Parts: sequence; structure tokens; C-alpha cells
Amino acid sequence: MNPLDALLQADRRHLMHPGTHAHDHASGELTGRVMRRAAGIRIEDHAGRTYIDGFAGLYCVNIGYGREEMAEAIAAQTRELSFYHTYAGFSNGPAVELSRRLIEDWSPPGMRKVYYGMSGSDANDTQIKLIRYYQNVLGRPRKKKLIARQRSYHGSGVATGSLTGQPKFHAAFDLPLPQILHTACPDFYRDGRDGESEAGFVARCVAELEQLIDREGADTIAAFFGEPVMGSGGLLPPPAGYWPAIQAVLRRHDILFVADEVVCGFGRLGSRTGCAHYGIAPDLISVAKGLTSGYLPLSGVIVGERVWDVIARGSREQGAMSHGWTYSGHPVCAAAALTNLDIIEREQLVGNAATVGTYLQAQLHAAFDDHPLVGNVRGVGLLAALELMADKGARQGFAAPGKVSARVAQAALRHGLILRSLGMHDIVGFAPPLIVSKADVDEIVAITHRAVDEVAGDRDDD
Ligand code: PMP
Repeated sequence: MNPLDALLQADRRHLMHPGTHAHDHASGELTGRVMRRAAGIRIEDHAGRTYIDGFAGLYCVNIGYGREEMAEAIAAQTRELSFYHTYAGFSNGPAVELSRRLIEDWSPPGMRKVYYGMSGSDANDTQIKLIRYYQNVLGRPRKKKLIARQRSYHGSGVATGSLTGQPKFHAAFDLPLPQILHTACPDFYRDGRDGESEAGFVARCVAELEQLIDREGADTIAAFFGEPVMGSGGLLPPPAGYWPAIQAVLRRHDILFVADEVVCGFGRLGSRTGCAHYGIAPDLISVAKGLTSGYLPLSGVIVGERVWDVIARGSREQGAMSHGWTYSGHPVCAAAALTNLDIIEREQLVGNAATVGTYLQAQLHAAFDDHPLVGNVRGVGLLAALELMADKGARQGFAAPGKVSARVAQAALRHGLILRSLGMHDIVGFAPPLIVSKADVDEIVAITHRAVDEVAGDRDDD
């Protein structure tokens, strides 16, 4: 047996993959691909095929793959101090310096403290605990419910999977947990009514949120979680005026705003943060992915002044907050994040995401606005989506959603481009590393065009 087949066989036998159909994997029906090495925006598999990574791993490899500087920083910190925890007053230089930079340079105003984890899911889990703690210190034991949006993604733990507004994350796991509520997803393209203006649609989303709050009682609702641009639910930039209107409702009812910046943070939208891009003033922020560009796992919960003051008071009155992970503030992960931020700043990758992002959006519109299979082209910065429709004139999607977009992603893969089929409809997503050039974008759009055409030409068996 050749070495690749042996690897694939062992993979099928022993490795359990996330979000994967166990039978398809075991039977080999799902094509296995073992990735081997990567540099810049390109990644190679063990069969020797090279792809442009049009989705930056899982929208995380923002500085591109294989950076020597990252390898050096990680190696140097491993030699110096490979690990020490941050309980009981212990700290380490990289974690301290990273906290300072996150608060001073990479957060909206009014942020005060950073608590570290390893993943976006655990960051949001920490948020839930901080929110409960905050309400308990304030003597509001009933104000504990959480609101997220339908189709949102906030992780897949027991609590964070409950926040996630996608039924497939709930059904087989007895979720969502009680006290977690979902309100409308702001998908104007799909859910806007005939003749309804964008402003009218926003007013409807806001009214739905108000009704939910009224029904449950504002005194029972602690916090609202939102991604500035909804990611895995469909790459949905908010309609104009959406965030200011939602924030006004939350403020009126004294409901905390948690900005889930796991995808949007660190330049993906062409701004330093999604909050800055949309004028969001959050109480709490979750970051992960782009914080280290995926070189090592690291997440952060960024706590605003208003919440921190209460937490600090609680800690004086009740003693230490018993919440913590072994690896919180891991020095090697923090060193990786610092070098990642150095690279983003030095190479002005946020500006590149804005410039090349504008180009990407324009090229996608030019190529697909009139394509019969593509109902909607949307995005912001280096985050973009094509929504495929069975009948774009009637805004009608496919009967079995997800299959046609998966075929487009498969066709793109055959032609050397990784895209991602996502969401609850037929959505093809783009989120290339922030280092992409206009020439790279031309290649990405050309391959996508070929893939979409191939699938469009072969629709009888849809
Ligand atoms: N929040 C958002 C917005 C995400 O997109 C993700 C992951 N795609 C998460 C949280 C969870 O992050 P992780 O997979 O690192 O737990």
C-alpha cells in the first residue's frame, strides 16, 4: 500500500472528524484529503495537488501560511518559557504585553481586561459565565437569559452550541439549553418581503427583538450575542442601520452586548474590528482565529469597563471567581499572537483587506450578478458569498439546500481552489488570507466562474 493510502486508511479507522458524516467517512464515500504543507495562500495535499486557500483554513490564517517569523517566535518562546499558568498572581511577559496591545490597539474604546482561552467556543462559554457572575453581583438572579440570532454561530459546546442558531447543532444533542433564545436573522435578501425596503426590514427585525424581550420580560434577559457580520450562518453583512437600531433596544432594556468577533476581528472586514466597522459599542468581545492566524490555538474574552467594575466588586465581596483553564494566557500562544499582530501592522494587512476586499467584491459582482445560478453576491472586505438559487427571479432556493453549493465547492477544488459551502442555504463562501493580491483575486474569481458554470450546465440531476 502506498504511504498516502495507508494514511487515509488509518485516518478512516482512528480519526474522528468534526461535522462529518461517520458512515461516509468510514466507507470512503467522502473523499479524504491529507494536507501536507502550505506557504502564503497556497496549500498542498499529500497527493501533490496544490490549491489556493480561498477560505484561509477556517477564516483564520490571515497572515498566510508558513511564516518563518512565526516559527521563530514560537520556537524562541518555547525555549524561554514553554508554559506557566496564570492562576494565583502568576503571569508571563507575552500574555501581559498581548493584553496591553489588544486593549490599546485592537479593541474599540472602553475595554479593560482580557481573559484567554484556546478557542472561540471556550471564549463564548467564558462570556456566559462572566454574564451570570455579573448579574449575580448586581443582585439580579433572574436576569440570566441570553439572546442570539437564528443561523448565528457562536461555537459548538453545550452552552455555546445552544447559542448557535442552527438546528443541526441542536437536534441530536438535546439542545438548546433552557434560557437561551433566538431572534431573527437579518437576511434581507431571503427574508425581505416583496416591495419591502431595507429600512422596513430592519424595523421588522427590531420589532421582533422587542417582542421577544417583552414576552420574556426585560428583567429576565442578561445579554445579546451577535457577530458583526454573520459568518458560518451565511456570510451576511447586516442591512444598513441594523446595528444602531438593535443596540438602542438593548441599551433601553439594560441588556449586555457581546460582540462575537471570532471571524471579523483583526482585519477581515478591512477594519481593525467588526465593531469599529459598524459603530458597535460592545460590553464584551470574543476573539480567536485571526488573533494567532491559526498558528496556535488562542482566544480572548475582552471585558469592558462597565462589566469589569462589577466583576471586580464581586470578587472583593465573594472571593475569587472560580473560573479558569490550565492554558489561559499560555506564553507560547501569546508570543505567536504578538508576532502575528506585528506582521499585520507592519504589512498593513488591514488596509490590504480593505483595498483588495473592495476589488474582490467588485469582481464577484461583475462576474456573477447576471449569472442564472447566482441570486445574490454579497460581502464586506475579504469576506464574500455567492448565494445560489433554483429560480433567482422568484427568489426560490433549492429543495434540498446545501447540495448545489457543495458541488460548486467540489468543482472549484478540482480546479485548484478551496471555497466553503456553508449556511442553511446554498452559499459559497470566500475568506482568503489578508495577504491576497488583486492578481490572486483574479485567479480566485476565474476558477469560481468555471466551477459555477460547470454546475449550472449540469443541473438536471439537482
Ligand atoms: N464564533 C464564531 C463567530 C465562529 O465563526 C466560530 C468558529 N467558526 C466560533 C465562535 C467558535 O470558534 P472555535 O471553532 O474556535 O471554537
